[in-house]
Amino acid sequence: MDIYADHAATTKMCDAALRAYADTAAKFYGNASSLHTAGQRAQEVLSDCRARIARLLGCDARELYFTSGGSESDNQAITSAAHAGAKKGKKKLISTAIEHHAVLHTLKKLEREGFEVVLLPVGEDGIVEVSDVEAAIDENTALVSVMFANNEIGTIQPVAEIGALCKKKGVLFHTDAVQAVGHIPVNIREIGCDYLALSAHKFSGPKGVGVLYARRGAPLSPLIEGGAQEHGKRAGTEDLPAIVAMTVALETSIADMDASEKVLKHLQDRLIAGLSKIEHCALNGDRVRRLPGNTSFCFEGIEGESLLLLLDEKGIEASSGSACTSGSLDPSHVLLAIGRVHDVAHGSLRLTLGPENTEEEVDYLIESVKEVVEYLRNMSPVWRDLKEGRRQYIL
Ligand SMILES: *Cc1c(COP(=O)(O)O)cnc(C)c1O
Repeated sequence: MDIYADHAATTKMCDAALRAYADTAAKFYGNASSLHTAGQRAQEVLSDCRARIARLLGCDARELYFTSGGSESDNQAITSAAHAGAKKGKKKLISTAIEHHAVLHTLKKLEREGFEVVLLPVGEDGIVEVSDVEAAIDENTALVSVMFANNEIGTIQPVAEIGALCKKKGVLFHTDAVQAVGHIPVNIREIGCDYLALSAHKFSGPKGVGVLYARRGAPLSPLIEGGAQEHGKRAGTEDLPAIVAMTVALETSIADMDASEKVLKHLQDRLIAGLSKIEHCALNGDRVRRLPGNTSFCFEGIEGESLLLLLDEKGIEASSGSACTSGSLDPSHVLLAIGRVHDVAHGSLRLTLGPENTEEEVDYLIESVKEVVEYLRNMSPVWRDLKEGRRQYIL
C-alpha cells in the first residue's frame, strides 16, 4: 500500500488545478504588466482570479495581494503592522505559543529590532483563551496574531471572537489561515481581521503561491521592492498559471467542502478510535474543535522519528510534528505548549488525511501504527523501565 497521510505538509494538486495550470501557461504567456494585447489578456485573467477569490473569502478584490505563499504573507502582514505601530510608539506584539514558524520567527526578528513579543499560552486542549488575549492587550499593542487552525494538532482557534475584541480595542489583528482555507469555512468579514494569510498548496493548489488579505486602510509595506505589481505592495511578475490553478483549487475545495468534511470526520473518528486502543498514548489537541483531517497522537516510550521511518517502509507517509527534521533535537513547541513533557512529545505522530483516503487505508494505518509502536517499545530501554516500575507512566 502507498498511503499519503501528510496533507498538512502539502497536498497533491487536483486535476482541475493541474489542467488550469497547463492551459494558462500555454495560452496566457504575456506579462500582466505589458501594455500589448498578450499582456492585457493576462491582466484580465489576473483580475478575474482576484475577484473570484475575493468572493469566496468575503472581501474586496482590491484587498488581496498575490504572494509566494503562506510564509511570505505572514511575514509581510506582521512586519507591516509592527513597523506602522512603532511609528506611533506601539511596540508590543501579541501572539500564541503554537504559531507556525513563519509567524514565530518573524516575531523573533522583530524582537531583536526592539519590539516586545508576548506569546500567550494555550490550554491542554491546544486552544487560546480569548480572555488571555484581552488581558494582554494594552495601549502599546500594535498587533495580535493568532492562527486560524494549528498545523500540528489541528485545533481551531476562536478567531472571530478575537477579531471582534481587537476591533473593539483598536488593535490590528492578523490570522494565519493557511490550514483553514479550503478545509473549513473562512469568511473574512465574519472574522473581522485586518490581515489573513493563505497558501495554495495546502488545498490542492500549486506550491509557491498564496494570498495576503490586507483590509483597505491597514498598514502594508512591501517586502520585495521593484515594479508596481500588486498595487505596489509586492514587486515581481505574477505567476499567472499558479494563480489561476490556486483559484480553481480554492473553488473546488470550497464546493466540495461539506462532502469532504463528512468523509474526513468519519475517517478521523475511525482512526482516533483505533489508535486510542494502543496503551499509554494520548490524542493531542481538542477532540471536537479540530480540523477534520487531523489526527495527532503521542505514544509513550518511543521516538517519533523511528516511528516515521518504519511507517515509511510500510508505504505510509506521515509526520512527527516535531522540529527534529530541521536539525535540532528539540521537541515540537506546539506539543510542549499543550503540556506534553519532552520525553512524551518526542513520541508524536501526525496523520493528516485528505478526502481521497479510504476506510481501508485507515484500517491499515491503525494496524501498522500498532505494530510499529509495539516493535519500538520492545527495543526501548525507557519502555522496559516503565514496564518494570522503575519509571512512572505519564500517559
Ligand atoms: C504550511 C504553513 C505555512 C507556510 O506556508 P507556505 O506556503 O509553505 O510558505 C504557514 N502557516 C501554516 C499554519 C502552515 O501550515
